[in-house]
Amino acid sequence: MLSVTPIPAFSDNYIWLLRQDASQNVCVVDPGDAAPVLEVLEREELHLETVLITHHHPDHTGGLDELISRYSPRVIGPDNPAIGGITETVGEGDEVRVMGRLLDVMATPGHTLDHISFFAPGIPSLLFCGDTLFCAGCGRLFEGTPEQLFTALERFAALPEDTMVFAAHEYTQANLTFACEADPDNRDVFHALEDCRKARETERPTLPSTIGRELLINPYFRVRTQSVRNAAGAQGANGDDLATFTTLREWKNRF
Ligand SMILES: [Zn+2]
Repeated sequence: MLSVTPIPAFSDNYIWLLRQDASQNVCVVDPGDAAPVLEVLEREELHLETVLITHHHPDHTGGLDELISRYSPRVIGPDNPAIGGITETVGEGDEVRVMGRLLDVMATPGHTLDHISFFAPGIPSLLFCGDTLFCAGCGRLFEGTPEQLFTALERFAALPEDTMVFAAHEYTQANLTFACEADPDNRDVFHALEDCRKARETERPTLPSTIGRELLINPYFRVRTQSVRNAAGAQGANGDDLATFTTLREWKNRF
């Protein structure tokens, strides 16, 4: 059985730790900071065997040098020379075996051009989506086009509904606050915000989410619903799905 647990980093990042049964060999995803990872590895006497990298931003890669010098892990990431230390470059359609699970690599540009995500089909399926998809939100467009990010999210929306979504940031409360405006007729959003506030009072993570849950509460997954279309229309969207998505993403930047 593969367990996936969050290691909190910085103010709102999660570095996901993958461990197969009681094996001492583990994998982490996007170690932006080495210190909290080292603390867990040393406390639990674990060996870092593999690192997965989704994109080049420092809050996802900043811990690599130190972790490599201590453990020499296999480092699997996108084809971007700006990321030092990658031992296996992967892209769309590649498969990698990690912790006994086969992971499909998906190119998911938008937030950055090099962004990739890792999908492990199974029961349940697992998705490591970096800064592409968040609970009730999606990443900012730093390098890619709205169309690229929308395409990536459409692919995620087609994954099995029980797929567990391991996003890299605890942005859920801010995203749901925005979703109350962007999808105002959706009662699930308001209930999710109540649950989220309770969880955050005791600093409990609101992740992982699931694709099924995101289909209910994530406005970027709901651009075809009347509630979201009307709200985006009031912000200037002209009606088609991509325009609705683009308007939502720009509106959130100002929100
Ligand atoms: Zn990022």
